[in-house]
Amino acid sequence: MRTTQVIGVPEENTPIEGVDAVVVALKSRSCPPEEAIRVSKAALSWLRRQRARQFFFKYCSTFDSTDRGNIGPVADALLADLEDDFAIVCPAFPTNGRTVFNGHHFVGTQLLSDSGMRDHPVTPMTESDLVRVLGRQTDGKVGLVPYAVVRNGSSAIVDHMTSLQAGGCRYAVVDAITDVHLMAIGEACADHQLITGGSGVALGLPDNFRRRGLLADAARIPMPKPQGAGAVLSGSCSQMTLTQVALTRESWPSFAIDPLEMAGSQDYAEKVLTWASDHVGDTPILIYSTADPEIVARVQSNLGRSESGSAIEHAMGEIARGLIDMGVRRLVVAGGETSGAVTQALGIDRLQIGPEIDPGVPWCEASGTRRIALALKSGNFGAETFFAKAFEMLP
Ligand code: ADP
Repeated sequence: MRTTQVIGVPEENTPIEGVDAVVVALKSRSCPPEEAIRVSKAALSWLRRQRARQFFFKYCSTFDSTDRGNIGPVADALLADLEDDFAIVCPAFPTNGRTVFNGHHFVGTQLLSDSGMRDHPVTPMTESDLVRVLGRQTDGKVGLVPYAVVRNGSSAIVDHMTSLQAGGCRYAVVDAITDVHLMAIGEACADHQLITGGSGVALGLPDNFRRRGLLADAARIPMPKPQGAGAVLSGSCSQMTLTQVALTRESWPSFAIDPLEMAGSQDYAEKVLTWASDHVGDTPILIYSTADPEIVARVQSNLGRSESGSAIEHAMGEIARGLIDMGVRRLVVAGGETSGAVTQALGIDRLQIGPEIDPGVPWCEASGTRRIALALKSGNFGAETFFAKAFEMLP
C-alpha cells in the first residue's frame, strides 16, 4: 500500500491524496490514559472523515503500557466511537522475535516478564499473560484464539472469534508465531472495523483490499528522491545501536558528542556543525551520543536523567537543522525520542513511507520546506550494518 505518515492529527484541510493508507503518529504510549484517549479519538475521527475503511490501533510489539493503560482504555474508546464491540489484540512481530503463544508474550526465547522489558524505566512488564494484562486495563471480557486454532488458518480463526464474541468477549488475544499466522489473522479480520496490534499483524491486511479490487496492483513503493550529502545522527543507547555505531565509526567521518562537555558549553552544537562542514561529502558522516550504560549512568548522575536526555535531544535537533542548511538531504536518525526531537526541529509533519531498509525501518521522504530522505530507526531495530545498508539502497 502507498502509505503516508502524518505526525500528530493534521489540520482539517490538509490534503491527503494518492495514498492507500495513512499512519497518524501519536506520542501516546506513556502519557496519561485520558490524554492517550483524547488524541486517539481525534485521530480516528480525522481518519473517518478521510473515508478510511479500516482502523488499526498500533502499539508496541512488547505490549508495554502501565497497568492503568493505555492499550485497554484507548481500544475501549475507539470501539465505542465506532459503535462496535469486538477487536483482536496481537502484538506479535515474529521477524523481530516477538511472538504470542497461548496468550503468553515472548521476546526471543524469553517470556516478556523475563526479558529486558522487566526493567524498562517507564513501562516495566512483569507479566507475560496478555489476557491478564489487558484484563486489568478494560472492563470488557478478554478471550484467546490459541495457536492450536491459528495454525488451521483464517476460517478456523473466524469461527473461534465468532464463538468468543457469542460468549461476551470484547477482545481476543490472538497467538502468532510466524508471518504465516499473521497473514491468516489479517485475512480473518477483513471485515473488522478496528484491529489492534503491533505493526506485524498489519502484514496480512493489504491483501484483503487487493482481493476486493480496492488496490490496483501490488503498489510500487517509491524510493525517496532527494539527492545530496548523507548523515547519521544517533542518540540511541540501545544495545543494537551501540554495535551499529561501533561498526560504522571505523569507516566514516565520525563525531562523538560528549554530553558533559556539551552541558558546560554555550555553542556546542556550533562546534559539531563546524566539524561537520569540514567532513560532509561523498561518504556519509556519523554524529553520535550513543554510549555504554556506564557512561550514560555517569552523565545522568551529573546532569539528571530527564535533563540529560532532553539536552541531548535538543542539541540533536539543532545539529539536524544545521546539517540540512549545509546541504545534507539524506538523514538517518537512531533513537525513538531522538527521532521525535529531530522531526520536530526540522518542522516535519508528513512522511511518505518508502522501501524497508530492515524490518520495521523504511526510508521515507519528508516533505516540508525542504524535501529530504529520512530514516528513523528506533532502539534495537536494524541489522549490525544498518547504517551502511541504508545509504547503499539509495540511488
Ligand atoms: P531508543 O530508541 O534507543 O530508546 P531514544 O532516542 O528513544 O533511543 O532514547 C535515548 C535517550 O537517551 C534520549 O533521551 C537521548 O537524548 C539520551 N541519551 C543519548 N545519549 C546519551 C548519553 N551519552 N548519556 C545520557 N543520555 C543519553
